[in-house]
Amino acid sequence: MKSKILPADPKAGYLAAEAEIDAAIKRVMHSGHYILGAENEAFEKEFASYLGVAEVAAAANGTDALELALRAAGIGAGDKVITVANTVTATAAAIVAVGAKPVFVEIEPETMLLDLGATEQLLTTVRDPRIKAVVPVHLYGQPVDLPRLMEIARTHNLAVIEDCAQAHGAAVGGRKAGAWGQLAAFSFYPTKNLGAFGDGGAVAGSDPVLLEKVRLLRQYGWRKRYVSELHGRNSRLDELQAAILRVRLGRLETENAHRAALAARYTERLRDGPVRLPATAPGRVHVWHQYVVRTPQRDTLRAHLEQQGILCGVLYPVPVHRQPAYHRVELTLPETERACAEVLSLPLHGGLQTGDIDRVCDAVLAWRP
Ligand SMILES: *Cc1c(COP(=O)(O)O)cnc(C)c1O
Repeated sequence: MKSKILPADPKAGYLAAEAEIDAAIKRVMHSGHYILGAENEAFEKEFASYLGVAEVAAAANGTDALELALRAAGIGAGDKVITVANTVTATAAAIVAVGAKPVFVEIEPETMLLDLGATEQLLTTVRDPRIKAVVPVHLYGQPVDLPRLMEIARTHNLAVIEDCAQAHGAAVGGRKAGAWGQLAAFSFYPTKNLGAFGDGGAVAGSDPVLLEKVRLLRQYGWRKRYVSELHGRNSRLDELQAAILRVRLGRLETENAHRAALAARYTERLRDGPVRLPATAPGRVHVWHQYVVRTPQRDTLRAHLEQQGILCGVLYPVPVHRQPAYHRVELTLPETERACAEVLSLPLHGGLQTGDIDRVCDAVLAWRP
């Protein structure tokens, strides 16, 4: 029996830097500081410098980072926020958490990213003054057309809060995802390109007033200890995860290059195969958080691969507007719904080699829909 190929493998990220990560953990344990200390400060500076932003404020997870960013940007009760429905419900949950309402816009059929034409049309025809912000999701590692989005946002006076949970290192025209919007939110969930070994998140940006507000909101509204200036909450990153993330950040470019090489191998081998391959728009650096193929017979392909020990993911099987908690009876988004019915993430992570990708490709090519 051949070994199993997993869709993602966070343990491979540990094994690739085991000695360094062990040393980082030991350093924190001996420091006597476990929450918001020197490791957090160093990680925030290093990640800000990597992204090309002025500041990063770490948080407890990606959903919190989005919520803190929206609140810092002044989005609240009665406001509406444009986003997509082919995302993890966390994107919508953060919008709802600040008291706002998500406005789900259609996706482009090729990239499966927010359709900017549809966004512009909505803004010019509906002209709803309650629409205050847009949360673009850089899905699967490919950034949205950020120059165009920023132009639309300027014209319509919207805040842009980037959901970068799948796009650590992605870029458009040499400028990183996370360095475009007023603020950007990152997740360091273990399977993300930059993953901790527990929960973690961060808000990035270059406006010191907004970043200061995020820092207050993430810890009881404190600027000074025991003085709550704002109605804040607790969303801190612990020192162990910050120290681990510093090690992982040092390897991010190498690991993203490895992902890109594996993705290129899939594309080369599957060019004439039975599935639709992912489309990368020109001028964008895609960091291949997922390698997503499409077929209307997704479930039978998935079962065929599983029989051979190849496990695939589906991101996401049910769009947010069809989830019980967020159901919008009146809303139909045909491209979004079609994507959710057809997408299949082939295995892609740092622990795989070209031979593993070839095994997956052989199995896909042997499949008869
Ligand atoms: C992972 C993810 C989140 C949420 O991050 P958590 O750290 O799990 O809270 C938000 N948006 C997208 C697109 C994600 O992939």
